[in-house]
Amino acid sequence: MGLDLVIRNGTIVDGSGAPRYRGDVGVREGRIVEIGYVPSVAERIIDADGLIVAPGFVDGHTHMDAQVAWDPIGSCSCWHGVTTVIMGNCGFALAPCRPEEREWFARCLTAVEDIPTEAMLAGIDWTWETFPEYLATVDRLPKAINYGAYIGHSALRMYVMGKRALHETATAEDLDRMAAAVREAIRAGAMGFSSSRAHTHVTPDNTPVASRIAEWTEIDRLVGAMGELGAGIFQVGPDISGGLAQRTFLARLKQVALESGRPVMFGTISSRQGVDPNPWRYQLDYLDECAAAGALVWGQTTTRSINAIFSLKSYLPFDVLPAWRELRRLPMSEQKHRLADPETRRRLVAEEATMKPRDNVLQGGGAATTDPRKPDYDNLFAMKDVEWNDPTVAQLAAARGQHPVEVMIDLALANDDQVFVQPLVNEHPDHVLGMLRHPRTLATFSDSGAHVCQEMGSSLQTHLLSYWVRAKQAFTLEEAVRKLSFDNASAWGLTDRGLLRAGYRADLVLFDAERVKPAMPTVETDLPGGARRLVQKAEGIAATIVNGEVTLENGRSTGRLPGVLLRGPGARP
Ligand SMILES: [Zn+2]
Repeated sequence: MGLDLVIRNGTIVDGSGAPRYRGDVGVREGRIVEIGYVPSVAERIIDADGLIVAPGFVDGHTHMDAQVAWDPIGSCSCWHGVTTVIMGNCGFALAPCRPEEREWFARCLTAVEDIPTEAMLAGIDWTWETFPEYLATVDRLPKAINYGAYIGHSALRMYVMGKRALHETATAEDLDRMAAAVREAIRAGAMGFSSSRAHTHVTPDNTPVASRIAEWTEIDRLVGAMGELGAGIFQVGPDISGGLAQRTFLARLKQVALESGRPVMFGTISSRQGVDPNPWRYQLDYLDECAAAGALVWGQTTTRSINAIFSLKSYLPFDVLPAWRELRRLPMSEQKHRLADPETRRRLVAEEATMKPRDNVLQGGGAATTDPRKPDYDNLFAMKDVEWNDPTVAQLAAARGQHPVEVMIDLALANDDQVFVQPLVNEHPDHVLGMLRHPRTLATFSDSGAHVCQEMGSSLQTHLLSYWVRAKQAFTLEEAVRKLSFDNASAWGLTDRGLLRAGYRADLVLFDAERVKPAMPTVETDLPGGARRLVQKAEGIAATIVNGEVTLENGRSTGRLPGVLLRGPGARP
């Protein structure tokens, strides 16, 4: 019997970490059926001479819940070799949700994740109320990558408790209803249950999101509901405020993991910000202690700093100041005209002195862009390429004999797409490397689909390949591919993805190991309703294949939409 597709003469990096070898991959009906020397006839042959053939990458920490409704290709993740994402992280989900609360939900997602309300209202056909109905919708939607989803605590709490969820302890009846909904979601195919204790997660009224109001006993009960079924992951946005609060959080989380028996995941980060920040090594030692005690706890880590991103077309740190606010309301051409006027510039530069002073509150990408402190120009980089050795604005100001604000104005006038990068956490590459090297961390955490104009995490995979593998040689290509594919697929229980093996689903990425890298980010207005977002593509990826079909060729969509909804191991037919 003939094959649907054969990828010939590639260099196979199979996801296991084993050394690369030359070979072919044969695909039939969405699965890999042969590997090695595959002489069989096939409907389509791709010559992969000179290319690495690897399993498609899995990103377990995204917020594509809204975007999946309007973006069938799954950008920006799809451009970086990602073929599977998990969404609904940190307690934020679009289900369950009552019709009368949709707009509030949309505004909450705008407040926390910078997903524009206008895009959600224009781009989503809300055909669901319950979580199983949401999954059924995702199942039907046309899509080029695979999606799994958590049921989110903030959504669930609002669904069961209404606005009481924002300030009240759950009653016994509330708890029963929430636990029942978690069980229902797991049986419908949720990957797990997500929540957040992070102080950076606030509502449009700047109050804590619903999950943060919950007592720990509520979390015990809801994660315990998964324990009863023997399925589902607990993902939580951690307390990252630092000091004792963070250590207390971690100790309590360990108890949840031990008592429920469910896998637990949270973000491990390194930070100079916050009150008495706990070192990244503390968090890694904690992962080992949990394991020694018998708990399965994963640290999610990214591959570089998590940044607030500024540009003329999106946010600038000064937008909140009165003279700037007035200017920034104008059409772009008029803004540029005025930015070039000496008198206006003097006023804009002078106003910077009135900004809120810096403090030691750890700001996420949200507050850092919408409620900024006076910039630390030694920690604000003028991005010139993707090599991550950009000059700081302070260095440029010293070299040019200019005020830092003038430097930023001049660079923005010379290039609309000039991007300024303020690392928020993981500032030190050595810390990132230390976290990436730990066997209990997962390279994920793009936040893809969220912070659409504030951060740019969707390129973490190509950054790992270009920076840590090619430029720094900190990992072999085999190790890096394993991190992005098999390790993540295993952690999320995707037992037929993440490896190139006969019988596995044919999710593949074909790339040039010498060229693969993220492209420069730009600001585009391509969201529903014309809303803006940061877009970052990649170079050096020749083809992406999902469930046996070629979805992208040289970064361009083929129009094929073979992605599927992934139901978790607790799903019942
Ligand atoms: Zn998140």
